[in-house]
Amino acid sequence: MAGKTIVVLGGGVGGLVAANRLRRLLHREHRVILVDHNVWHSFAPAYTAVMLGQKVAGQISRDLRRLNRKRIEFIADEITGIDPAKKTVHLTGQQLTYDYLIVALGTQYTAGDISGFGTAYTYYTLEGAEGLCEELANFTSGRIAIVVPGLPYKCPAAPYEGALLLDHYFRRSRLRTEVEIRLFTPEPGPLPVAGKAIGEAVTELLAGREIWYSPSSRLQAVDPEARRLTFEDGIDAPYDLLIGVPLHEVPTVVREAGLAQEGGWVSVDRETLATSFEGVYAIGDVTGIPLANGLPLPKAGVFAHGEAEVVARNIAAEINDGETRWAFGGEGSCFLETGYGKAAYVTGNFYAEPDPDLKMRQPSFLWRWVKEGFVRTWLWRWF
Ligand SMILES: Cc1cc2nc3c(=O)[nH]c(=O)nc-3n(C[C@H](O)[C@H](O)[C@H](O)COP(=O)(O)OP(=O)(O)OC[C@H]3O[C@@H](n4cnc5c(N)ncnc54)[C@H](O)[C@@H]3O)c2cc1C
Repeated sequence: MAGKTIVVLGGGVGGLVAANRLRRLLHREHRVILVDHNVWHSFAPAYTAVMLGQKVAGQISRDLRRLNRKRIEFIADEITGIDPAKKTVHLTGQQLTYDYLIVALGTQYTAGDISGFGTAYTYYTLEGAEGLCEELANFTSGRIAIVVPGLPYKCPAAPYEGALLLDHYFRRSRLRTEVEIRLFTPEPGPLPVAGKAIGEAVTELLAGREIWYSPSSRLQAVDPEARRLTFEDGIDAPYDLLIGVPLHEVPTVVREAGLAQEGGWVSVDRETLATSFEGVYAIGDVTGIPLANGLPLPKAGVFAHGEAEVVARNIAAEINDGETRWAFGGEGSCFLETGYGKAAYVTGNFYAEPDPDLKMRQPSFLWRWVKEGFVRTWLWRWF
C-alpha cells in the first residue's frame, strides 16, 4: 500500500491532538503534516491566569517545531486556499496535496460593525491577557465592564469566570469596595446550553459576589472618549476599563473554500465529523453542530479534543484496514474558576435529547486543583 498523506490545518487544540494521535497510530511510510501560521501553541484555558499575573506566556506555550522530532512535519505558513475538489491546500510558499484533510482552524476574531469596540481589552488572546495584566496592576478604582457583544463565542464559561476571578483579585488587594464589576451579554442567562438550573446557580454566584449582571443586553456602540457603552435597548453604561469578548467568525480561508456558508460554520456529521467533501473532516471551533434543543454545541477545547481523537482514529483505522469505527458522542466538561482557589465543574452529555444532560459540581478546592493539573500536563502530553 502506498504511503498516504494526512494534512492537518491548524496547530491549536484539535489539530495538535489529531496530528499526535495519527502519528502514534500510523506506520512511518504515511506522512502527517501540520500547518499553522503561528509557531507557538498557547493554551487558552490558562489565559485568565496570565491576566491575573499568576502565569507568564512561556509557562503556557510550546514551540510547534518540536513536533518534527516525532515525525509530525510542521510547516509554519499562512493557509491561503483549500481546494477540496483537487485535494490541495495552498500556502504562501508551497502547495500541499492530501489524501485526508483535517480542518482545525478555529475561529477568527473581528470587531464587527460595533463602533469603538476595537478599543476593548481582552483576555481572549495571549497578548491581550498580558496587556490586561499590566492594566489591572494600575487599576485601583472605577467601573469594569465585561462585554460579550455577540454569539457564539468560545468557552461559554470564560466571561463568567473572568468576572469572578477579577472580583477575588480586587478583594485580595482590598480594593473591591472601590471597583464595580459589570457583565453584559446578549444571552438570556449564563450558559444557556447547560439548562436552567446551572444558569441559576451561576447567576447566584455572581449576585453573591456583587457582580452586576445584565443578560439580554446587546452592545450597539462604544464611545471610548466618553467611556460609555450603548446597548440596543437604549440603555447607556459608563465604564473606566472595558474588557470585551471578541466577535467570532469562521476563518476567511474556510469560507472561501466553500466549506462554510457566509455567516455560518462548517457543517459536519456530528459523530464522524465528516464534511460533504470526500476525505475532508472538520473539528473544533470551526464547526457548527446543532443540538436537539436548537442551540449549537459550544465552542470549547474539550470538544475539539474529543473530535480530534475520533477523526484521527477513524482515518488510521481506514488506512490500516482495521475494523474499528469511532463515533463522537457529545461528552464534555468544563471548569469554571470562581476565585478563592476554587472552581466549579460542569460535566455531561451534550448530545442527550431533548436537552443536554449536565451536572454542575459546586465550587471547591478539588476542581481548581484538578484544572491546574490539567493545564500543567496538557503541554507535556502533546509536545
Ligand atoms: C480565555 C479562554 C479560556 C478558555 N477556556 C477553556 C476551557 O477551560 N475549556 C475548554 O474546553 N475550552 C476553553 N477555551 C476554548 C478553547 O481554547 C477552544 O475552544 C479551542 O482552542 C478550539 O480548538 P480548535 O483546534 O478548534 O481551534 P484553535 O485552538 O483556535 O486553533 C486554531 C489554529 O488555527 C490556526 N490558524 C487559523 N487560521 C489560519 C491560517 N489561515 N493559516 C494558518 N494557521 C491558521 C491558528 O493559529 C490556531 O493555532 C477557552 C478559550 C479562551 C479564549
